Amino acid sequence: MKPFGYQRPTTTAEAVRLCAEGTGARFLGGGTNLVDLMKLGVEEPGLLVDVTRLPLDRVAPDPDGGLRIGATVRNSDLAAHPDVRRAYPVLTQALLAGASGQLRNTATTGGNLLQRTRCSYFQDVSKPCNKRLPGSGCPAREGSHRDLAILGHSAECVATNPSDMAVALAALDATVLLLGPEGERAVPVTEFHRLPGENPDQDTVIRPGELITEVVLPPPVPGTVSRYRKARDRASYAFALVSVAATLQVEAGRVERATLAFGGVAHRPWRARRAEAELLGAPATPAAFQHALIAELAEAQPLRDNAFKVDLVRRVAQDVLGELSEPHGPEAGPTT
Ligand SMILES: Cc1cc2nc3c(=O)[nH]c(=O)nc-3n(C[C@H](O)[C@H](O)[C@H](O)COP(=O)(O)OP(=O)(O)OC[C@H]3O[C@@H](n4cnc5c(N)ncnc54)[C@H](O)[C@@H]3O)c2cc1C
Ligand code: SF4
Repeated sequence: MKPFGYQRPTTTAEAVRLCAEGTGARFLGGGTNLVDLMKLGVEEPGLLVDVTRLPLDRVAPDPDGGLRIGATVRNSDLAAHPDVRRAYPVLTQALLAGASGQLRNTATTGGNLLQRTRCSYFQDVSKPCNKRLPGSGCPAREGSHRDLAILGHSAECVATNPSDMAVALAALDATVLLLGPEGERAVPVTEFHRLPGENPDQDTVIRPGELITEVVLPPPVPGTVSRYRKARDRASYAFALVSVAATLQVEAGRVERATLAFGGVAHRPWRARRAEAELLGAPATPAAFQHALIAELAEAQPLRDNAFKVDLVRRVAQDVLGELSEPHGPEAGPTT
């Protein structure tokens, strides 16, 4: 690992200033991803600006009726927060489906949103990779890609976003608040992560030196139920092959409102807008759910070894929608 500087500011303004001034400066949350990548030589920051002493460690009600989540709130604390468990169970379920208890105790909300892909070529500096070294090529496309994208990929990159939490935030229409050298701005989570296109080195729309300060959840919609379900190779401690976050409101047997996001299938959490449009006003039946999901997945472009994901994500989503539409909804409380 190359030598690097370390600073631990106590105000957001100072954090942004330090990051803007430091050569190759990076914010440090729990370090569970960044430090691993530094050990592998993938990341070589000149300065780490530790954000964990910033006053961003609270979950608080938003005046509009939603919830404001500080960027340094630990994944475990967020999953266990009573307001999250009660009003946004899909978020608790997604968080608890990720990593391990020890990692969740350390990982932060901001760091989770910005964790890098788990594509094995990205993590191996002896291999070419357009995301790590633009223009060097994408060996995953013809090589090992069983875990990689089936939707929205490009000739340059077929990586997937690994975050469980981000999939739930996409289904919940959360917003990311940013503070940078040019001031504050707000970005919907669904627009925060990018598709790879010709610039797979850019995972998100975050600008150099911008700090994530908070994530804001909109008020929960009365009568809406939600769920997260993850399919993986092992029952725990494994990234998603595919995952589904869904919210659903059914009135008199018809879908009044539905939001649906897929994980493990694209370079960003995949908001299934086409399926949502098909579901609106449709009968809450297995046949209607299947029809909507087939319409969504018509644009899937699986690679040689990951076509199984198309059917897997459809089946997981269909199960989730079926459970949510049962007369009494899902059982109370978080499940994984
Ligand atoms: C063995 C293992 C298994 C895992 N399994 C899963 C899993 O199943 N599901 C899952 O979702 N995740 C999983 N993870 C990933 C884990 O969730 C992430 O490593 C963690 O969420 C990152 O948070 P952090 O605070 O440690 O980020 P850090 O490592 O500190 O930072 C990650 C990135 O975010 C940036 N950053 C951090 N905070 C801010 C901020 N406030 N503003 C701007 N930039 C910021 C850093 O500069 C860095 O680029 C796993 C990790 C490991 C090691
Ligand atoms: S899929 Fe993306 S991250 Fe993986 S090797 Fe190709 S360019 Fe790199």
